Amino acid sequence: MSVLTIEGVWKNFDGHHVLRGIDLEVHSHEVVCLIGASGSGKSTLLRCVNLLETVDDGAVYLEGQEITDPRADVDDVRKRIGTVFQAYNLFPHMSVLDNITLAPRQVHGIGRREAEEQARGLLGRFGLADKAEAYPDRLSGGQQQRVAIIRALATQPRLMLLDEVTSALDPALVREVLGVIRELKDTGMTMILTTHEMGFCRDIADTVCFLDDGVLVEKGTPEKIFTDPGHPRTRDFLSTVL
Ligand code: ADP
Ligand code: MG
Repeated sequence: MSVLTIEGVWKNFDGHHVLRGIDLEVHSHEVVCLIGASGSGKSTLLRCVNLLETVDDGAVYLEGQEITDPRADVDDVRKRIGTVFQAYNLFPHMSVLDNITLAPRQVHGIGRREAEEQARGLLGRFGLADKAEAYPDRLSGGQQQRVAIIRALATQPRLMLLDEVTSALDPALVREVLGVIRELKDTGMTMILTTHEMGFCRDIADTVCFLDDGVLVEKGTPEKIFTDPGHPRTRDFLSTVL
């Protein structure tokens, strides 16, 4: 089943075409990894999916419903999409538990007791059971980012968008965050992620998409893209990062 369909999406900023006719279909349980040079449009594409940007042309469908339709309910769409960005933006004045339970309680109307029970379950699953009462500034960057991922998970999204979630971390902390993403994949979460960690991308992706200057140049299995890319631009890019 298709969770997300992106059809002919164009986006420009100040007359510069940042996305040029992107087509992409993401199936249930699929992990799609977007790769490409800085500025190639990866973040903009994710922002078009969670409606932080409007598209100039084309359409995005979430579970068959056109979410780029101006009449679509933005809040409802965001309830179904979990997003984690590079800079873990936890609320500093709230405990880990309150950070995680905020959206389930306020957006989804779940009671405090149930939300906290669920949050503690997630914290336990990701090795952070003892951090429930801690404030973000007492956690390492890796722990903060794991909490940010748990917070996005707590609303039980149909799709997770992860944009460079390890880029702001010390190398020593990257692995624990990648471990969480691996665990998400193992539970069948449908995800689109961007990363500079090519080894991880190769390991976790079902489908790799190479973006070049707003064009989805090539898409395929990690084996195909990393060992036998079909397009010279893909080969050039990979030769700079591998
Ligand atoms: P990536 O995530 O692949 O590094 P981005 O999607 O962030 O690429 O950016 C693609 C291009 O769009 C870049 O040239 C960037 O400068 C431009 N861009 C992104 N967001 C904006 C914005 N809000 N206003 C103007 N230009 C933007
Ligand atoms: Mg980006």
